Amino acid sequence: MLIDFPTVNLVAVLMVILECGILGVLWAVHRDIRGIGHWAIGAVAISAGVIAIYLRGILPPALSVTAANIAIVTGYVLTWWGLELFFGRRPYYRSGLLLLSGAAAGLVYFSLVEPDTRSRLILLLSLLSLFAVLRAHSTLRRVLPETRFSQLFGGSVMSLQAAGNLLLLTAVIRTGTEPRPIDRMPIAGWIFLILTILSVALVFAAVLLVNQKLQARLRETAQRDQLTGALRRHVLEEAVEREIARSRRHRRPLALLLLDLDHFKAINDRYGHHAGDEALRRFAETAQAGLRREDLLGRTGGEEFCILLPDTDQEGAARLAERIRTAVENLSVDVDGQPLRLTVSIGAAALAGDDESWSGLTRAADVALYRAKKDGRNRIVVAGPPPAAESMAE
Ligand code: GH3
Ligand code: MG
Ligand code: MG
Repeated sequence: MLIDFPTVNLVAVLMVILECGILGVLWAVHRDIRGIGHWAIGAVAISAGVIAIYLRGILPPALSVTAANIAIVTGYVLTWWGLELFFGRRPYYRSGLLLLSGAAAGLVYFSLVEPDTRSRLILLLSLLSLFAVLRAHSTLRRVLPETRFSQLFGGSVMSLQAAGNLLLLTAVIRTGTEPRPIDRMPIAGWIFLILTILSVALVFAAVLLVNQKLQARLRETAQRDQLTGALRRHVLEEAVEREIARSRRHRRPLALLLLDLDHFKAINDRYGHHAGDEALRRFAETAQAGLRREDLLGRTGGEEFCILLPDTDQEGAARLAERIRTAVENLSVDVDGQPLRLTVSIGAAALAGDDESWSGLTRAADVALYRAKKDGRNRIVVAGPPPAAESMAE
């Protein structure tokens, strides 16, 4: 069945206007999420192009062909940049602009200077294919667990768009030297229709991406302590259950550190609560910096923290505890030009055998921490047996 090109073009016009509206609203509602603005402006550029093409015959070719083509390519580039921003990367502004200027020059040449429909279409479709591939690559390059579904969905739609553009490109190339307008090629109408539907699917993917990102943000806020960014107690406890089961199943060690800042009340009294807060933040940052990805830092109380160390035995836990203790000792928090110094006492314990329970492990670490405090603070005590390795710096 032959699809009537002007009808598809009209459908495309209506769809791009709808897409602009949806992306515009999305941008207005989520001004704090990077990239959506680029998508919305990109959609406006693409709509302007599609509308100008629809008005061929009414508008002069400089607008309905040259400007329209440039606007569509610009829209593709903008949405590509927007995706890079959305995923927290720096867009390739320079390469994009360079390609865009080259593209504009080529499109002007083949439409106004030396009009050649076939060459212009080959150039246009090559560019659209290229940017569709770049958009798909940008979306699928690193699939994050929290936006997995929307990335896979959006990436697939973009890959299909790239395929559609490449199909059109092949069709145009195969027409030989004879200049034949694209709208008289039998498959062009179909491909245009599918590309139009895909562009609507893409807007749906955009909404989904934003939705999943927000969900992840909310989950993150619910799981982490506002001041220090450490995990909240209940999140850590859930993780502990999982880790204990895992460590038993794979017969892997598991260790726990309990950390308590020394004389913190005195720090608050001397420097003020605000400085105390800053000290807590810097402490958590310092502790976190020494951890691996799978280690979990939690805030269990005011100035009390806990670190869960999967795949770590007693010795490894003691080494890490000592590293954190030294790093905290060397930390200097600036309070109105005055250096605020901190120390921490750490109790460490490791899961010994199958019979050991979580409560047994925390109790052992707690006793070790109590001993570290009692023995003079700023030290680590490892729960025995084997005989506790101790370190002290005082
Ligand atoms: P020790 O060496 O025995 O642990 O002494 P300490 O003073 O650190 O222990 P204590 O438990 O007596 O005091 C803890 C202090 O931590 C009391 C409280 O005001 C302070 N604190 C708890 N949470 C926060 C917080 O979020 N911000 C600030 N600035 N201080 C906090
Ligand atoms: Mg305490
Ligand atoms: Mg304390």
